Amino acid sequence: MPNQDLIEKYARLAVQTGANVQKDQPVVIRATTETRELVRAITKEAYLAGAKRVHVQWNDDYVSRLGYEHMSEETLQDIPEWVVNQTQHFIDIGACFISITSPIPGLNAGLDSSKIQKAGIASMKKLSFFQNHMMGNKAQWTIVAAPNTVWSEKVFPDKQGKDAVEAMWDAIFTACRVREDNDPIQEWDAHNETLRKHNKILNDFQFDQLHFKNSLGTDITLDLVENHVWAGGDETTTTGTSFNPNIPTEETFTMPHKTGTNGKVVATKPLNYQGNLIEDFWLEFKDGKVVDYDAKKEKDTLKNLVEFDEGSSYLGEIALISYDSPIQNSGILFLNTLFDENASCHMALGRAYPMNVEDGTNMNPKELEEIGYNQSMAHSDFMFGSEDLQVTGKTKDGKEVIIFKDGNFVI
Ligand code: ZN
Ligand code: ZN
Repeated sequence: MPNQDLIEKYARLAVQTGANVQKDQPVVIRATTETRELVRAITKEAYLAGAKRVHVQWNDDYVSRLGYEHMSEETLQDIPEWVVNQTQHFIDIGACFISITSPIPGLNAGLDSSKIQKAGIASMKKLSFFQNHMMGNKAQWTIVAAPNTVWSEKVFPDKQGKDAVEAMWDAIFTACRVREDNDPIQEWDAHNETLRKHNKILNDFQFDQLHFKNSLGTDITLDLVENHVWAGGDETTTTGTSFNPNIPTEETFTMPHKTGTNGKVVATKPLNYQGNLIEDFWLEFKDGKVVDYDAKKEKDTLKNLVEFDEGSSYLGEIALISYDSPIQNSGILFLNTLFDENASCHMALGRAYPMNVEDGTNMNPKELEEIGYNQSMAHSDFMFGSEDLQVTGKTKDGKEVIIFKDGNFVI
């Protein structure tokens, strides 16, 4: 088993640096039954940090699979009122949210993906107020990860059972800067400072357009919205509490203009979506919209993502990460976006983040739409960074500035 001290450190990092739990604040942990050990450690650290009450919302992916298999489409789309009420209650009491991701790759293989899709859409529609709460930074929230056997064995195919799980814990700790000989909370303070510097340089340039090009066939331009804000690392709630939405995070990201993307982007890592792995895929955009795409594996799943709703065929995020990053250097493909997106430059199909434009969190949906914000119930990152990626920024007066050379930041 992994060192209990490291799990405790990781739990403390999730509570203090991630959610930044405040004295007397309720905490909601959203987790699967695979992650009991970390749930207990986080619960303990949350109480030590002064949490008023810790609520755990359990989910079991195998039970969910049985539901997709046996429930009627109609029942799957009928979201019980108590789920809505419970979610609203957590918002009303001012809770912060800690999600533990522990994906089971391939779990939903063989199921009717359009049924899963419809269930997902129904749930997101009914709970869109919660998405707005989180995406609008109205409360602190964070996502961390914990291993499960299936995932670990898939990532480390030459290891089995406990050995694979232990290797996965090690990989997670390394990616999250949790080591025996350090104080990860201090190290994250320094890391946040570095990300702030990148954000500042890019914000000062206020590029009109970014151009991405590499030898794999990526050749694409993205217009950025006026008064865009590059963010990354820690964020602040609308009431002034800082938090880190993702642990780990290496990215600095902003908002592309909904209708300003043109060209082709070739993915460099597989994308795990709806329990399926989309591999070797590319997308082509015209005036912001996906007009063509292909995938060597799971093209139907990619279709589900692109056609999820109107906004899921447009971009909502562009993120820059040097190829020379801790997760990329580890050489491990995590098969999970929380990690893999931090190894590589990525874009997201779907919803944009209001905070990526000045005063965005105070704008209503109509105002956001007018400045080029993309609205969607989906948000899915896909990776396209490579060791020869060149990124050029064009300023308002037409000057070109090289941002990335050979995969890495040069400004
Ligand atoms: Zn991102
Ligand atoms: Zn994203």
